[in-house]
Amino acid sequence: MATLANTADAELTDGAGTQPSAEIGVIGGSGFYSFLDDVTEVQVDTPYGAPSDSLFLGVLAGRRVAFLPRHGRSHHLPPHRINYRANMWALRSLGVRQVLGPSAVGGLRAEYGPGTLLVPDQFVDRTKGRVQTYFDGLPLPGGGPVPNVVHVSLADPYCPVGRRVAVKAAHEQGWEPVDGGTLVVVEGPRFSTRAESLWHAAQGWSVVGMTGHPEAALARELELCYTSLTLVTDLDAGAETGEGVSHEEVLKVFAANVDRLRTVLFDAVAGLPSNEKRDCLCMRALGGMDPGIELP
Ligand SMILES: [Zn+2]
Repeated sequence: MATLANTADAELTDGAGTQPSAEIGVIGGSGFYSFLDDVTEVQVDTPYGAPSDSLFLGVLAGRRVAFLPRHGRSHHLPPHRINYRANMWALRSLGVRQVLGPSAVGGLRAEYGPGTLLVPDQFVDRTKGRVQTYFDGLPLPGGGPVPNVVHVSLADPYCPVGRRVAVKAAHEQGWEPVDGGTLVVVEGPRFSTRAESLWHAAQGWSVVGMTGHPEAALARELELCYTSLTLVTDLDAGAETGEGVSHEEVLKVFAANVDRLRTVLFDAVAGLPSNEKRDCLCMRALGGMDPGIELP
């Protein structure tokens, strides 16, 4: 259920003019939405609890976009404490069907230095114990139906259309992106040891982060399109020769690149198809299977 925390903008409501809605979700903080003219804050509750924060709705290139600060607006949630299920559910419940998920990562190869933009086409899950499904055989929290046993394909975890649009947007901004690669997602919040980092690199994986999973997997279960855009903020321990990654370094590089990342994201928003014109594997992930629970 969504409630308006501020006055609703008429453009952000559905046909009945009562329910705030959006078509595209961006999982990113105030650095992305604070430049929009009119932003409406909406609080959304879900069967899985509260999302990381309110959702911030605005209109961008004629598209209704919901921004969700992944770590909360004051960045108080570490990656392993984020309620990923609530976040993706909340986005869908507002009408979102396509999601852009920017994140900061470490480069696993010397050529992927700070400032590299990589749009992965694969990920490897090295997290531990995160809930990564809505179909867990348990009644909905707080009581409700038990979801059916459902196995979705995640062979290609990211939306092929969203990836194309993101790569094109970066290219047109003169920020030549790395088109494809593997994001390895670690539990965190600590950074990798040199041995772990060298091992990740030896597997041929490209970048390492802490939040890419289970976002993509949950999005697929909800038949949402999900596109990951990763910004390299540092070389991971095995790829550099200094003292290893520091949090300050990561923040500094992110701040230096947030303007152009925002521009690329905004262009990507404008380039995504309308939800009605979606025609990709994501929207048919359940293949007509009965999930046993009603998707929002
Ligand atoms: Zn898709």
